Amino acid sequence: MSREEFFGTVKGVFIITLAMMAGAYGLTTAMLVVTEFKDATFHYVLATIFPVILTPVGAFPLLVMAHRLRVIKSDLEGLLRLDSLTELPNRRAFFELAGKVFQRGGAVTLMMVDIDHFKQVNDNYGHDTGDRVLRAVAQSMQHIVAATGNPGVRFAARIGGEEFAVLIEGLAPDAADRLASELVTQVAQSPVQGDGQLIAVTVSIGVAHRRAGDTPSMVLRAADNACYRAKRLGRNQWRDADAEAEQAAAGAVQSAA
Ligand code: GH3
Ligand code: MG
Ligand code: MG
Repeated sequence: MSREEFFGTVKGVFIITLAMMAGAYGLTTAMLVVTEFKDATFHYVLATIFPVILTPVGAFPLLVMAHRLRVIKSDLEGLLRLDSLTELPNRRAFFELAGKVFQRGGAVTLMMVDIDHFKQVNDNYGHDTGDRVLRAVAQSMQHIVAATGNPGVRFAARIGGEEFAVLIEGLAPDAADRLASELVTQVAQSPVQGDGQLIAVTVSIGVAHRRAGDTPSMVLRAADNACYRAKRLGRNQWRDADAEAEQAAAGAVQSAA
Protein backbone atom coordinates (compact mmCIF):
# COMPACT_ATOMS: atom_id res chain seq x y z
CA MET A 1 0.00 0.00 0.00
CA SER A 2 1.43 3.39 -0.98
CA ARG A 3 1.78 6.28 1.46
CA GLU A 4 -1.11 8.12 -0.21
CA GLU A 5 -3.38 5.07 -0.06
CA PHE A 6 -2.47 4.50 3.61
CA PHE A 7 -3.39 8.06 4.54
CA GLY A 8 -6.55 7.73 2.42
CA THR A 9 -7.52 4.65 4.45
CA VAL A 10 -6.75 6.39 7.77
CA LYS A 11 -8.89 9.34 6.62
CA GLY A 12 -11.71 6.91 5.77
CA VAL A 13 -11.51 5.31 9.23
CA PHE A 14 -11.48 8.77 10.85
CA ILE A 15 -14.60 9.89 8.96
CA ILE A 16 -16.47 6.67 9.81
CA THR A 17 -15.44 7.06 13.48
CA LEU A 18 -16.77 10.63 13.54
CA ALA A 19 -20.04 9.46 11.96
CA MET A 20 -20.37 6.68 14.56
CA MET A 21 -19.67 9.18 17.36
CA ALA A 22 -22.32 11.56 16.01
CA GLY A 23 -24.79 8.66 15.94
CA ALA A 24 -23.85 7.58 19.48
CA TYR A 25 -24.18 11.17 20.76
CA GLY A 26 -27.58 11.47 19.14
CA LEU A 27 -28.84 8.23 20.69
CA THR A 28 -27.30 9.09 24.08
CA THR A 29 -28.94 12.53 24.06
CA ALA A 30 -32.32 11.00 23.15
CA MET A 31 -31.91 8.46 25.97
CA LEU A 32 -30.84 11.17 28.45
CA VAL A 33 -33.89 13.30 27.58
CA VAL A 34 -36.10 10.35 28.54
CA THR A 35 -34.15 9.76 31.78
CA GLU A 36 -33.95 13.52 32.52
CA PHE A 37 -30.14 13.63 32.10
CA LYS A 38 -29.34 11.16 34.85
CA ASP A 39 -25.56 10.29 34.81
CA ALA A 40 -25.17 12.40 31.65
CA THR A 41 -21.35 12.68 31.87
CA PHE A 42 -20.96 8.94 32.25
CA HIS A 43 -23.13 8.21 29.21
CA TYR A 44 -21.39 10.82 27.02
CA VAL A 45 -18.03 9.30 27.97
CA LEU A 46 -19.36 5.89 26.88
CA ALA A 47 -20.69 7.44 23.62
CA THR A 48 -17.16 8.71 22.93
CA ILE A 49 -15.12 5.68 23.98
CA PHE A 50 -17.08 2.98 22.16
CA PRO A 51 -16.96 4.48 18.65
CA VAL A 52 -13.32 5.54 19.06
CA ILE A 53 -12.22 2.02 20.04
CA LEU A 54 -14.63 -0.20 18.10
CA THR A 55 -14.96 1.65 14.79
CA PRO A 56 -11.29 1.52 13.71
CA VAL A 57 -11.09 -2.14 14.74
CA GLY A 58 -14.08 -2.97 12.49
CA ALA A 59 -13.53 -0.48 9.66
CA PHE A 60 -9.80 -0.76 9.05
CA PRO A 61 -9.83 -4.39 7.76
CA LEU A 62 -12.83 -3.55 5.56
CA LEU A 63 -11.08 -0.52 4.03
CA VAL A 64 -7.88 -2.52 3.47
CA MET A 65 -9.92 -5.24 1.73
CA ALA A 66 -11.65 -2.63 -0.45
CA HIS A 67 -8.23 -1.25 -1.40
CA ARG A 68 -7.00 -4.73 -2.35
CA LEU A 69 -10.06 -5.29 -4.53
CA ARG A 70 -9.38 -1.98 -6.31
CA VAL A 71 -5.78 -3.08 -6.98
CA ILE A 72 -6.95 -6.48 -8.32
CA LYS A 73 -9.53 -4.74 -10.55
CA SER A 74 -6.96 -2.39 -12.08
CA ASP A 75 -4.48 -5.30 -12.57
CA LEU A 76 -7.19 -7.29 -14.37
CA GLU A 77 -8.08 -4.30 -16.54
CA GLY A 78 -4.40 -4.01 -17.47
CA LEU A 79 -4.18 -7.74 -18.29
CA LEU A 80 -7.28 -7.50 -20.51
CA ARG A 81 -5.36 -5.09 -22.72
CA LEU A 82 -2.02 -6.89 -22.77
CA ASP A 83 -0.85 -9.65 -25.08
CA SER A 84 0.60 -12.24 -22.70
CA LEU A 85 3.19 -13.64 -25.15
CA THR A 86 4.85 -10.40 -26.31
CA GLU A 87 3.66 -8.08 -23.51
CA LEU A 88 2.63 -5.56 -26.17
CA PRO A 89 -0.83 -3.96 -26.09
CA ASN A 90 -3.35 -6.33 -27.67
CA ARG A 91 -5.93 -5.73 -30.41
CA ARG A 92 -8.49 -4.36 -27.96
CA ALA A 93 -5.98 -1.89 -26.48
CA PHE A 94 -4.86 -0.90 -29.97
CA PHE A 95 -8.34 0.12 -31.06
CA GLU A 96 -9.11 1.85 -27.75
CA LEU A 97 -5.93 3.96 -27.93
CA ALA A 98 -6.25 4.56 -31.67
CA GLY A 99 -9.83 5.79 -31.12
CA LYS A 100 -8.60 8.34 -28.58
CA VAL A 101 -5.73 9.52 -30.80
CA PHE A 102 -8.04 9.85 -33.82
CA GLN A 103 -10.42 12.04 -31.79
CA ARG A 104 -7.64 14.57 -31.25
CA GLY A 105 -7.26 15.25 -34.99
CA GLY A 106 -3.78 15.78 -36.45
CA ALA A 107 -1.51 13.46 -38.41
CA VAL A 108 -1.70 9.74 -37.64
CA THR A 109 -0.02 6.89 -39.48
CA LEU A 110 -0.98 3.24 -39.00
CA MET A 111 1.15 0.31 -40.13
CA MET A 112 0.21 -3.30 -40.57
CA VAL A 113 3.29 -5.45 -39.93
CA ASP A 114 3.06 -9.14 -40.89
CA ILE A 115 5.86 -11.68 -40.41
CA ASP A 116 6.76 -13.37 -43.69
CA HIS A 117 6.26 -17.12 -44.05
CA PHE A 118 5.81 -17.47 -40.32
CA LYS A 119 4.03 -20.78 -40.69
CA GLN A 120 7.32 -22.18 -42.01
CA VAL A 121 9.10 -21.08 -38.83
CA ASN A 122 6.64 -23.15 -36.78
CA ASP A 123 6.85 -26.06 -39.21
CA ASN A 124 10.66 -26.06 -39.37
CA TYR A 125 11.63 -25.20 -35.80
CA GLY A 126 8.55 -25.87 -33.67
CA HIS A 127 5.92 -23.73 -31.99
CA ASP A 128 8.12 -22.69 -29.04
CA THR A 129 10.74 -21.27 -31.38
CA GLY A 130 7.92 -19.57 -33.29
CA ASP A 131 6.88 -17.93 -30.01
CA ARG A 132 10.47 -16.79 -29.44
CA VAL A 133 10.49 -15.22 -32.90
CA LEU A 134 7.24 -13.40 -32.14
CA ARG A 135 8.70 -12.01 -28.91
CA ALA A 136 11.92 -10.93 -30.64
CA VAL A 137 10.09 -9.16 -33.48
CA ALA A 138 7.78 -7.49 -30.97
CA GLN A 139 10.73 -6.26 -28.94
CA SER A 140 12.67 -4.81 -31.84
CA MET A 141 9.53 -3.08 -33.16
CA GLN A 142 8.86 -1.62 -29.73
CA HIS A 143 12.42 -0.25 -29.52
CA ILE A 144 12.40 1.28 -32.98
CA VAL A 145 8.96 2.83 -32.58
CA ALA A 146 9.85 4.23 -29.15
CA ALA A 147 13.08 5.70 -30.54
CA THR A 148 11.29 7.91 -33.12
CA GLY A 149 11.37 10.69 -30.56
CA ASN A 150 8.33 12.59 -31.88
CA PRO A 151 6.17 14.06 -29.12
CA GLY A 152 2.91 12.30 -30.12
CA VAL A 153 1.62 8.87 -29.11
CA ARG A 154 3.52 5.98 -30.71
CA PHE A 155 3.29 2.30 -29.98
CA ALA A 156 3.30 -1.19 -31.47
CA ALA A 157 0.55 -3.70 -30.65
CA ARG A 158 0.00 -7.38 -31.43
CA ILE A 159 -3.35 -7.49 -33.17
CA GLY A 160 -3.29 -11.06 -34.50
CA GLY A 161 -1.23 -14.27 -34.52
CA GLU A 162 1.82 -12.95 -36.40
CA GLU A 163 0.37 -9.53 -37.17
CA PHE A 164 1.31 -6.32 -35.47
CA ALA A 165 0.03 -2.79 -35.84
CA VAL A 166 2.00 0.39 -35.26
CA LEU A 167 0.45 3.78 -34.50
CA ILE A 168 2.47 6.96 -34.89
CA GLU A 169 0.93 10.32 -34.11
CA GLY A 170 2.26 13.67 -35.34
CA LEU A 171 4.81 12.40 -37.84
CA ALA A 172 4.86 13.65 -41.46
CA PRO A 173 3.98 10.89 -44.00
CA ASP A 174 7.50 10.70 -45.46
CA ALA A 175 9.05 10.42 -41.99
CA ALA A 176 6.54 7.63 -41.16
CA ASP A 177 7.50 5.87 -44.41
CA ARG A 178 11.18 6.08 -43.39
CA LEU A 179 10.26 4.47 -40.10
CA ALA A 180 8.55 1.60 -41.96
CA SER A 181 11.68 1.16 -44.05
CA GLU A 182 13.80 1.11 -40.89
CA LEU A 183 11.54 -1.56 -39.36
CA VAL A 184 11.85 -3.79 -42.43
CA THR A 185 15.66 -3.43 -42.49
CA GLN A 186 16.11 -3.84 -38.75
CA VAL A 187 14.06 -7.05 -38.55
CA ALA A 188 15.86 -8.52 -41.59
CA GLN A 189 19.23 -7.71 -40.00
CA SER A 190 18.35 -9.26 -36.63
CA PRO A 191 18.11 -13.04 -36.98
CA VAL A 192 16.57 -14.73 -33.94
CA GLN A 193 18.48 -17.26 -31.87
CA GLY A 194 16.72 -20.64 -32.14
CA ASP A 195 17.82 -23.93 -30.57
CA GLY A 196 21.38 -23.93 -31.86
CA GLN A 197 20.72 -21.98 -35.04
CA LEU A 198 19.98 -18.43 -36.12
CA ILE A 199 16.60 -17.98 -37.77
CA ALA A 200 16.25 -15.34 -40.48
CA VAL A 201 13.05 -13.34 -40.10
CA THR A 202 11.54 -10.71 -42.38
CA VAL A 203 8.36 -8.66 -42.29
CA SER A 204 6.11 -7.01 -44.84
CA ILE A 205 4.57 -3.68 -43.92
CA GLY A 206 1.63 -1.68 -45.22
CA VAL A 207 1.54 2.00 -44.27
CA ALA A 208 -1.54 4.24 -44.36
CA HIS A 209 -2.03 7.83 -43.24
CA ARG A 210 -5.26 9.15 -41.79
CA ARG A 211 -7.39 11.48 -43.83
CA ALA A 212 -10.25 13.64 -42.51
CA GLY A 213 -13.22 11.49 -41.53
CA ASP A 214 -11.25 8.23 -41.38
CA THR A 215 -11.74 5.81 -38.48
CA PRO A 216 -8.90 3.58 -37.15
CA SER A 217 -10.52 0.55 -38.85
CA MET A 218 -10.58 2.33 -42.21
CA VAL A 219 -6.91 3.34 -42.02
CA LEU A 220 -5.88 -0.11 -40.77
CA ARG A 221 -7.76 -1.70 -43.67
CA ALA A 222 -5.84 0.54 -46.11
CA ALA A 223 -2.59 -0.44 -44.36
CA ASP A 224 -3.60 -4.11 -44.60
CA ASN A 225 -4.19 -3.79 -48.35
CA ALA A 226 -0.80 -2.13 -48.78
CA CYS A 227 0.78 -4.94 -46.74
CA TYR A 228 -0.89 -7.49 -49.00
CA ARG A 229 0.67 -5.69 -51.94
CA ALA A 230 4.11 -5.81 -50.25
CA LYS A 231 3.63 -9.58 -49.90
CA ARG A 232 2.71 -9.96 -53.54
CA LEU A 233 5.75 -7.97 -54.62
CA GLY A 234 8.07 -10.41 -52.86
CA ARG A 235 7.85 -9.70 -49.08
CA ASN A 236 10.60 -8.15 -46.88
CA GLN A 237 9.46 -4.66 -47.94
CA TRP A 238 6.97 -1.90 -47.18
CA ARG A 239 4.33 -0.20 -49.31
CA ASP A 240 2.48 3.05 -48.70
CA ALA A 241 -1.28 2.95 -49.34
CA ASP A 242 -1.28 6.46 -50.86
CA ALA A 243 1.54 5.60 -53.28
CA GLU A 244 -0.31 2.40 -54.20
CA ALA A 245 -3.49 4.38 -54.90
CA GLU A 246 -1.54 6.89 -57.04
CA GLN A 247 0.05 4.06 -59.02
CA ALA A 248 -3.31 2.40 -59.54
CA ALA A 249 -4.81 5.71 -60.76
CA ALA A 250 -1.86 6.30 -63.13
CA GLY A 251 -2.26 2.73 -64.44
CA ALA A 252 -5.97 3.31 -65.05
CA VAL A 253 -5.23 6.56 -66.96
CA GLN A 254 -2.58 4.81 -69.07
CA SER A 255 -4.82 1.90 -70.01
CA ALA A 256 -7.69 4.29 -70.88
CA ALA A 257 -5.38 6.31 -73.21
P1 GH3 B 1 2.67 -14.79 -45.17
O1 GH3 B 1 4.10 -14.47 -45.50
O2 GH3 B 1 1.80 -14.80 -46.38
O3 GH3 B 1 2.14 -13.90 -44.09
O4 GH3 B 1 2.66 -16.28 -44.61
P2 GH3 B 1 2.56 -16.78 -43.13
O5 GH3 B 1 3.02 -18.18 -43.07
O6 GH3 B 1 3.25 -15.80 -42.21
O7 GH3 B 1 1.02 -16.62 -42.85
P3 GH3 B 1 -0.07 -17.68 -42.46
O8 GH3 B 1 -1.31 -16.88 -42.18
O9 GH3 B 1 -0.17 -18.76 -43.50
O10 GH3 B 1 0.42 -18.35 -41.13
C1 GH3 B 1 0.46 -17.69 -39.92
C2 GH3 B 1 0.91 -18.67 -38.89
O11 GH3 B 1 1.10 -18.05 -37.61
C3 GH3 B 1 -0.08 -19.79 -38.66
C4 GH3 B 1 -0.18 -19.92 -37.15
O12 GH3 B 1 0.00 -21.23 -36.73
C5 GH3 B 1 0.96 -19.06 -36.65
N1 GH3 B 1 0.67 -18.48 -35.34
C6 GH3 B 1 -0.36 -17.66 -35.01
N2 GH3 B 1 -0.28 -17.32 -33.71
C7 GH3 B 1 0.83 -17.92 -33.21
C8 GH3 B 1 1.44 -17.95 -31.90
O13 GH3 B 1 0.99 -17.33 -30.95
N3 GH3 B 1 2.58 -18.68 -31.77
C9 GH3 B 1 3.13 -19.38 -32.80
N4 GH3 B 1 4.26 -20.05 -32.59
N5 GH3 B 1 2.55 -19.40 -34.03
C10 GH3 B 1 1.44 -18.67 -34.24
MG1 MG C 1 -0.92 -12.83 -41.37
MG1 MG D 1 2.56 -13.78 -42.13
